[in-house]
Amino acid sequence: MKSWAEVAIPKLAGNLAVPTLSLTNSKSMQLEALQEKNLYRMYVCGITPYDATHLGHAATYLTFDLINRYLRASGAEVSYVQNITDIDDPLLERAIRDNVDWEKLATSQIDLFRSDMINLRVIPPQNYIGAVEAIDLVSEAITALEKAGTIYAIDKDLYFKNYSSNEFGLLSHLSKLQMQEIFSQRGGNPTLPGKTDPLDCLVWMAQRPNEPGWESPHGKGRPGWHIECTAIALKYLEPELDANTCIDIQGGGSDLIFPHHEMCASQARVLTGKELASTYVHSAMIGLDGEKMSKSKGNLVFVSTLVNSGVDPMVIRFALLSQHYRKDRMWSDSLLQEATVRIAKIRLAFEASSIAPTDAVNAEIVAALSQDLDTPRAFYALEMWAEASIGGSTGGSAQELKQTLDALLGLAF
Ligand code: ZN
Repeated sequence: MKSWAEVAIPKLAGNLAVPTLSLTNSKSMQLEALQEKNLYRMYVCGITPYDATHLGHAATYLTFDLINRYLRASGAEVSYVQNITDIDDPLLERAIRDNVDWEKLATSQIDLFRSDMINLRVIPPQNYIGAVEAIDLVSEAITALEKAGTIYAIDKDLYFKNYSSNEFGLLSHLSKLQMQEIFSQRGGNPTLPGKTDPLDCLVWMAQRPNEPGWESPHGKGRPGWHIECTAIALKYLEPELDANTCIDIQGGGSDLIFPHHEMCASQARVLTGKELASTYVHSAMIGLDGEKMSKSKGNLVFVSTLVNSGVDPMVIRFALLSQHYRKDRMWSDSLLQEATVRIAKIRLAFEASSIAPTDAVNAEIVAALSQDLDTPRAFYALEMWAEASIGGSTGGSAQELKQTLDALLGLAF
């Protein structure tokens, strides 16, 4: 599927050192330095195209955009793959609810998502892959899982035995009872009669009446969600054969840790004998005015709504990054207003004919981001610089600081 337009990224000033990036790995629950590499493989789970792009989505893709930018600034290449779950139950349910064709709904929401990502200056993935276009790939992965003896049928649907991997559960750190509860809340159907284990997951759903289906060696139907991501990641990121893990980073929102990423990891271990990712990174949730933002509450705030009402996308980007990505946080009008004021102060500082010294603030921004993308620390340093500059301090290079802000934070002043 077509990705979105490239974003121009300036180079950092030549004298600015970029230390190794450390990120909190959800599996170890520790801050870990990434292994130094020339090429990083990153997979971030994409949207199901029926509610694009709410601020929770935006915050997630901004988090991985910071990782992408940092690794590139360090001189490495990043192979970045994202999927779109353009066939799944929630999409079909929404299409029925709104009495629209599911394909038209998906297409319109994917277009909207692309324009939101462009507005937010998110670097596009090199491979942006839809579930429908990956059906053959998913089907091959299911055949391989079947050969490994990890698949069984209930009627014509196929299920994967997640406990085929004895490390199942080590990513989410949940008890089996907790996993069953969450699985049930997220469409996993743990009590379905015929299951070998309540936590086994659907990998192929036989076609239902009045629903779309695709021919495959497993019958006519459609893929399950977890195997979609596993198959796309393993194909399009071209894992190195002699590496200990398949890819470097798998990421998404923290609500994907279980069941989605736990189950992808289990499938990948059966398919490759290896851990799917060296580092699992998860971006926390965004609430609204003190409440969880969710489809069921109907309180989603959309990027396009804000932009259409005249909000500068850079203010949205700044506001979402103004708190740490691992902290569940709230969206509010006051956060937006605060970001507007803070950006205005930085713009004002840049307007002076001579600005405050910039070497220290450049180095501090890089240092802050190197430690688990500490954007609040980076923004604090930037504002201290702006205040010094407005106060009359001189001797800095506006161009070098602008390069740092654009290359690493995606903020173009
Ligand atoms: Zn995924």
